[in-house]
Amino acid sequence: MTSQEVRTQFLNFFKEKGHKIVPSAPMVMKDDPTLMFTNAGMNQFKEFFLGNSKPKHTRVADTQKCLRVSGKHNDLEEVGKDTYHHTMFEMLGNWSFGDYFKKEAIQWAWELLTEVYKIDKNSLYVSVFEGSEDDGLAMDQEAYDLWKAIVPEERIIMGNKKDNFWEMGDQGPCGPCSEIHVDIRSTEEKKKVPGASLVNQDHPQVVEIWNLVFMQFNRKANGSLESLPAKHIDTGMGFERLCMVLQGVQSNYDTDVFTPLIREIEVITGKKYGKDEKTDIAIRVIADHVRAVAFSIADGQLPSNTGAGYVIRRILRRAIRYGFTFLNTNKPFIYRLVKVLAEQMGKAFPELKEQYQLIENVIKEEESSFLSTLEQGLVLLDSVIKSSKDKTISGEKAFELYDTFGFPIDLTSLILEEKGYQLDVAGFNKALQEQKDRSRAASEVSKGDWTVLKQDSEQEFIGYDSLEAQVKLVKYRKI
Ligand code: ATP
Ligand code: MG
Ligand code: MG
Ligand code: MG
Repeated sequence: MTSQEVRTQFLNFFKEKGHKIVPSAPMVMKDDPTLMFTNAGMNQFKEFFLGNSKPKHTRVADTQKCLRVSGKHNDLEEVGKDTYHHTMFEMLGNWSFGDYFKKEAIQWAWELLTEVYKIDKNSLYVSVFEGSEDDGLAMDQEAYDLWKAIVPEERIIMGNKKDNFWEMGDQGPCGPCSEIHVDIRSTEEKKKVPGASLVNQDHPQVVEIWNLVFMQFNRKANGSLESLPAKHIDTGMGFERLCMVLQGVQSNYDTDVFTPLIREIEVITGKKYGKDEKTDIAIRVIADHVRAVAFSIADGQLPSNTGAGYVIRRILRRAIRYGFTFLNTNKPFIYRLVKVLAEQMGKAFPELKEQYQLIENVIKEEESSFLSTLEQGLVLLDSVIKSSKDKTISGEKAFELYDTFGFPIDLTSLILEEKGYQLDVAGFNKALQEQKDRSRAASEVSKGDWTVLKQDSEQEFIGYDSLEAQVKLVKYRKI
C-alpha cells in the first residue's frame, strides 16, 4: 500500500463514520503565544476543547503537519539516530467535540487497524492510564473495560503519567490516553522476549503508532487540573510509522515517504545508504530536516535570527553540517531535494508545489551562506578541543562560533557531544547577554539620531533541555 493510499484510507474510514475532513492547519503557529509550532493534530482545535468557541462539526478528521523540536515535545536529538522520530511528521487524527467518547474511539481505532489495514491482532498492544497521585486521578477503568472486551488482557498494559496522560504543553487541554503499539519483530524474536515488556522502551520494532486521548481536563497556569465543560476525543496516529508497519519495513526511512529523498541524496553525494551507521544517520537527518525546513518555508516562515525563524535556521544548519562532516558535501545540495519532496508530497500538501521555487531559493541561499563559514568554524572548534584540558569548552569560544561563524549553540553542543566534550553553557549565556546589553546600549545612544539601530532583543533564553548527562541545549522563544 503506498503512503498516499494509507492516508486516503484513514480519511475515508472516518468520513464514513460521519467525520468532516478538514485541511491541516499551518505547522508554524502565528497566533498562539504559548506554542511556536503545531506539535499535534489537536492544536488547531484547542478553543473547541476549552469551550471558548463552538465547532461547526462535532466529528472531524485530518492529517496534520507537526513539528517537534522545542518545548514539551522535543524529539530533535532522536531524529536520525533512531528510525521513528522525526522533526516534521504527519499526524493522522480523528476528533469528537462533545460527541462520541471512549467507546467509539476505541472500537473504531481497532476496526481501522485490524479490519481495514489488516494489521495482525497478535502484534498489537494497548495501554491504559494507571492513575496519578500527584493529580489525584484514579486509573482509567472505563478504558480498561472497553479494551478488555476486544483484546486479551495480557495485551493491555498499564502506563504512567509520562506515557498515558497527554498534555499539549504546560497549560491547556489534557487527559488520560490509551496508546496502541505494534510489535513488528520476527516470530523467533517474539518468542525470545515478550512484546509487552518492550512497549515504551524505545525499541525500534515495538513502536507506538496511535494515541487515543480522552480529553477531560484543562491544566491551569498554577498546575492544577479543572474539568472541561464537555468530554472530547483527540487521537493522533504517526503517519510515517503506520506506513512502516503497512509496507512491511523496519524503519520509517524505508517507506516510500522517505526512499525517494534518500535515493536522491545517494545520487548527489555518491554515498550509499545502509552500509555504515554514521553515513546512515547523516542521510536520515538530512532527509528528515529538509522536510521540516521546506514545510516551514511553505507556511511562510523563513529562516532568520529570531523566534521560529531561528529554529528553522538551526535545523537547516544541523543538516548542512551533517552533510559536510559525514557525506563530504561542500557545496549546496539540500535545496535539490525540494523537487523530489514536492513530487512526493505535493498532492496531499499543494503548498509545497506552489512555493517550490521560493523554498529552493531560500534553502540554497542558506546553504551557501553557512558553508562559507562552516569549515573555518570547525577548524577553530578543533583547535579549541585540542587545547582543552578538562573536556569542557568555554562559553566564550562557543559564543565566538555562534557570533562569527553562525554556529547555533545546539550545533556546537552536538559536535562536542560526538567527540566526548562538553560546553560551558552558563558562560555562553553570559557572553550572549553581554552582547545584547552592548547592542541595547548602542541603540539607546543612537535614538536621538536619524538612524535607529534595530534592537537585538527578540531572543530570550528560556531554559535548557537536558541532552545526555551534562551537555545542554539552549532554547529560544520569541518575546
Ligand atoms: P513517542 O512516545 O514515540 O515519542 P509520543 O507519545 O510522544 O510518541 P504522541 O504525542 O502520543 O506521541 O503523538 C501521537 C502519535 O504521533 C504517536 O503515537 C506517534 O505515532 C506519532 N509521533 C509522535 N512523535 C513523533 C515523531 N517525532 N515523529 C514521528 N511520529 C511521531
Ligand atoms: Mg514523544
Ligand atoms: Mg509515547
Ligand atoms: Mg503517545
